[in-house]
Parts: sequence; C-alpha cells; structure tokens
Amino acid sequence: MRESDTTSGEARPVRKIIHIDMDAFYASVEQRDNPELRGKPVAVGGSAERGVVAAASYEARKFGVRSAMPSVTAKRQCPDLIFVRPRFEIYKTISRQIREIFAEHTPLIEPLSLDEAYLDVTENLQGIELARDIALRIREKIRAETGLNASAGISYNKFLAKLASDHRKPNGQFVISPETGPAFVETLPVGKFHGIGPATAAKMNALGLFTGLDIRNQTLEFMNANFGKSGAYYYWISRGVDERPVRANRIRKSIGAENTFSTDLTEYGALAAELEPLVDKVWRHCETTGNRGRTVTLKIKFADFEIITRSRSVPAAVANREELKRLACGLLEAEMPLPKRVRLLGVSLSALQAGGEPEPQLTLGI
Ligand SMILES: [Mg+2]
Repeated sequence: MRESDTTSGEARPVRKIIHIDMDAFYASVEQRDNPELRGKPVAVGGSAERGVVAAASYEARKFGVRSAMPSVTAKRQCPDLIFVRPRFEIYKTISRQIREIFAEHTPLIEPLSLDEAYLDVTENLQGIELARDIALRIREKIRAETGLNASAGISYNKFLAKLASDHRKPNGQFVISPETGPAFVETLPVGKFHGIGPATAAKMNALGLFTGLDIRNQTLEFMNANFGKSGAYYYWISRGVDERPVRANRIRKSIGAENTFSTDLTEYGALAAELEPLVDKVWRHCETTGNRGRTVTLKIKFADFEIITRSRSVPAAVANREELKRLACGLLEAEMPLPKRVRLLGVSLSALQAGGEPEPQLTLGI
C-alpha cells in the first residue's frame, strides 16, 4: 500500500495517461513535403562536412544514423545520406495543429517538445471510456490533417506511458495496464528508464543494478543514500509507481524579441528606432496570449560580443505598447553614451501574469 493512498482508506481511481510522440518528426515532414526524399535516408540538420544530425528518417536509422550524431560520422555510416536544412517554422505550425487535436479530448496537455506531449484523459471531453480508443482517434486525425504518423503509449502514469510509446514505433500504440506495469519495468535495463542518463546508468551498473528488478530489490534508504534526491523517484518507478501529474499550460517566464543589425550602431536615435519592431513584437504577443508583465529588460550585445542587460520593474503590469516602449527607451537612454558599437538589441518582459488573472490594485487614499 502506498502512503498517498491511505488518507481516506480508498485508492484514487486509476489515471489514464497518453504519451503521443510523432515518428521521426522533422525528417517525416521533409519527406512529406518533398517526394524526392521519400524512401531515402534523410538527415535534418548538419551537412556532409560539419554540424550534427537533428533528426534522421527511418531509412537513415537502418544505417545507425541517430540524432545528435556528428554529420561526418553519419555520412561515413550511410554514404547516400541526404542532408536537409531544418524548417522550424513549419514544425512549429504542425505542432500547433496536433495540440489542437489533443485539446478536442482534454485540456490537460503537457508538451515535452514540438512533437511529444503527455495527455491526462482520465476525464475526457468526449466521454470515451478507453484511453486506447482516444489514442487511436488522435493518431487517425493527426494522419488525416498532417499526413504524418504518430505513436502512442497508454498507461496509468507518465513514466510508463512514455516507455509504452516507444514500444510499437513507428505508427503504433501500446498499453501498459496496472496489472502489467511492474512486470514491464522488471526486465528493463536501467539505461532505458526515462530520466536515467548514461552517467547514472553507469553508476547503477557499478552498484550491481542492471534492470528494474535490481532496483526494486533495494531499500528506499539504499536508493536515497546512493542517488540523493532522485533515489526515491527511481525506487518508485522500479515498482511502476509515478505520481507526477500532467502539468498543463506551463506559464512562460518571459516574452522577448531581439534583432542583430546588418551594421553595428552607436547613435541613440538609430538604436531607439531599432527598438520599435521589438516592442511591437513583444506587445503583440502580450495581446494574443493575454499575458502581462511588470519587468522590462533591455539586452545589448556589443560588436565584441560582450552582452549587458538592464532591467526595470514597475508596480503594476505594463499596460500598453507605449508604456513598454517608454520603459525600454529609458533603459537605453541611461546607457548613453555607449562605450562600443552595438550589434544586437533585445527587449523582454518578465514577472508575467497569466491572462484573465486579476492584477494587483494600486490602493488610493481617500
Ligand atoms: Mg518523436
């Protein structure tokens, strides 16, 4: 019996968590948009001479090409490898499309990256009983609307859902039930656990821990003593237990925009003019998201790449574009005359309040 379940003497209902993961995302988008790349080994990012691979198509993976691999190594392992430049704006657009599909089923969406997210569908908007059916519908709709394949893992917690989505890739899904969870983890090599990196895996191996079962055979005290704060997490996941909630709508900490000039600048007038489009961009974001902030930061990068930042906080959230501009220009003015030529300016707004949240009132004496 777990401690968290004993308060009322009654266990909480089993959660239904889906982990959705697009298959070879960047590479699949490139193959979708360029028929000549289909069926061929494709690497997004890098070039035949330099850089690293950001994503590899399944055809390239057959040759051992992996993301984060130096391009030169990738080309050696797969001489026919085709390098393609990434198009992040397209990937972001598709990411928004798939999040809209998720939102048809639940507001509890926690994106991990552009192509991966956890969904809590315990209570879901269409009242579908089985999470596996929701996953099927989501994958079908992603396919219909984007032409791309996604895989899904379905389980009763985040840790197992993420493991499950890898299990039938590509274009598949897999369920790990409360009955099969502990056995699934038992045989798993520790290096395959999400959250256990190569260094921790090596440390575990040195302690004789090679599989989930090996961890499960240890006491909580042993795990705490050897792995500090993470010890308890490993102890519980080796039992298939993970109580972390799906965290929706993480609030951004700041909204910012910056620009590098084609020629370095020093005059106040020219620099203030360059602030205009940055202020526009930040304020437009405030308006579309409803977020507001109290702290304005100006970033200045000089021609020698030295960077300074200057901030000013105001008592109530910045109310409009003019106020944002006035504060940003004030920070710039205070730095005049500048010691060196400037190659980049940035403006950001932080200490954000989410849209719809009441703003603190300024009290006026009467
Ligand atoms: Mg993926």
